[in-house]
Amino acid sequence: MTELFIRNGAVFDPTRGIDGDVMDVAIRDGRIVESVGSSAKVIDATGKTVMAGGVDVHSHVAGPKVNAGRTMRPEDKLFKSPMASGGNRMEMGFSIPSTFKTGYDYARMGYAFVMEAAMPPLHSPHVHEEIHDTPIIDEGALPVFGNNWFVLEYLKRKEIENAAAYTAWLLKASKGYGIKVVNPGGTEAWGWGLNCLTLDDEVPYFQITPKEIISGLIQTNEYLGLPHSIHIHQNDLGNPGNYRTTIDSLRLAEGVRANNRFGREQVMHSTHLQFHAYGGDSWATFESRAREVVNYVNHQKNITFDLGCVTLDETTTMTADGPFEHHLNGLNHLKWTNVDVELETAAGVVPYVYDPKIKVCGIQWAIGLELALLCEDMNRCFITTDHPNAGPFTRYPRIYSWLMSQKYRQATLDSFKHSAKVTAATEIASLDRELTLYEIAQMTRSGPAQALGLGDFYGGLAPGMDGNVVVYNLDPNELPSNPEQLEAAFQRASWFIKTGDIVVKDGEIMSHGNKRTLWVRAKTPENPQVRRDIHDKFLKDYTVGLDNYEVRDYLAPNPYVIEVDMEA
Ligand SMILES: [Zn+2]
Repeated sequence: MTELFIRNGAVFDPTRGIDGDVMDVAIRDGRIVESVGSSAKVIDATGKTVMAGGVDVHSHVAGPKVNAGRTMRPEDKLFKSPMASGGNRMEMGFSIPSTFKTGYDYARMGYAFVMEAAMPPLHSPHVHEEIHDTPIIDEGALPVFGNNWFVLEYLKRKEIENAAAYTAWLLKASKGYGIKVVNPGGTEAWGWGLNCLTLDDEVPYFQITPKEIISGLIQTNEYLGLPHSIHIHQNDLGNPGNYRTTIDSLRLAEGVRANNRFGREQVMHSTHLQFHAYGGDSWATFESRAREVVNYVNHQKNITFDLGCVTLDETTTMTADGPFEHHLNGLNHLKWTNVDVELETAAGVVPYVYDPKIKVCGIQWAIGLELALLCEDMNRCFITTDHPNAGPFTRYPRIYSWLMSQKYRQATLDSFKHSAKVTAATEIASLDRELTLYEIAQMTRSGPAQALGLGDFYGGLAPGMDGNVVVYNLDPNELPSNPEQLEAAFQRASWFIKTGDIVVKDGEIMSHGNKRTLWVRAKTPENPQVRRDIHDKFLKDYTVGLDNYEVRDYLAPNPYVIEVDMEA
């Protein structure tokens, strides 16, 4: 029996409305408890900030496109990285870090869970191998559904029960967590050299529109009662004027009620909204429409979103939005990879430099922050960079600092070559809101945990929850006025305890923890038609046999399986 006692810290736990109260946190056998015995190991958190382990709702950290990025960009390894020491492994890479660096860096920042945001089901064994290879942090992965041939055919015929039976089968086969949708219809249209830029652009051959795909998948998700809602990367990503399409697709959630036993309230999670809140009709007239988009979300309570903040770094973009990567390559003429994944999806990889000397990059930076600063409910707005698309996840502490300090935002804005033009095209200079530690905890702990249906385990410090506790060297009564100091404190936690194990002390890795993989097993009524469809398509169209498709148990050796029974 191991016991830990974190004494006298300023605790921020939005799940219980605790806002900086000086309290103790006790852990026994990996869980938070009311109290522990006198022999417990004591960690003194006096004058420090205590939060639950962070939860990242959207990040690309494992799988074929991440690996394609690593192969394609050897220069990414030239960024300075710590060498191996003690029992720890060498760390490499900046925007596409090695699996070890990924696990270590999340742990140093005090994160307990990350969702791999786009798993091509055909390559899910590889995704799980990399997840298993990534130390400390718990992970799940979202298989992509929005361009899958089975899904397109079932939804075209409005066969929600069949779509649900197939979804349940695919989640089990891929050990997946929920329904990811990337550029619904557009990635499949890309197979014909086309795209779906509005909700009514029909997918060739399948004769279904993005609108029908999104609505059908929302219905499928709620029919099954999955822990997470659909998780959508909307159509027309990254283009001037796309905010209209964004709001059109958010509207598809109107009037739909969440159906699940996990406490999840949203029926749609809209991801990296920064890339979808653009005004103007060209790059010359490019401007922020963050206010229009957030105003809609503020009033539409069954939607959650994450930011996708631009961090002004050199990075590597990667997405299942194949046509977008082709488009991006046409803009920056750097390297480009594009892959087609049989009946399921596609993906592309393109390096990108968010250069503060470029007006558009400055506007993108502002939009990501504006979305948060204009949001009224921080439990529905989560901090991400769509790692590595808008910047690496290791910049989260810098984003906290921008959100917490108007002065720091202004200093960054002033450093831009085109600061006047960025100011004119956005509202960032006039927003004086400064987020609090409590709000940061909502955006990185309680909010994402609840949206993922994991609110019973992650994102809070109530007795019974997982013993994931981070201590930051930050006195909430005397926050450093220097943003670099604030950032450094969040970058390297004083202590991070992961399910009762001390994994970080003074920013150094102490243990590889007991990492686990979360996936969802949904029980549906026996469906002979879907079983036959799967059998036939594997014979006819796939290059692999059905027997070789499912992820073997040994690839996810420490699973945490969430059972869903729609009949119960
Ligand atoms: Zn993404």
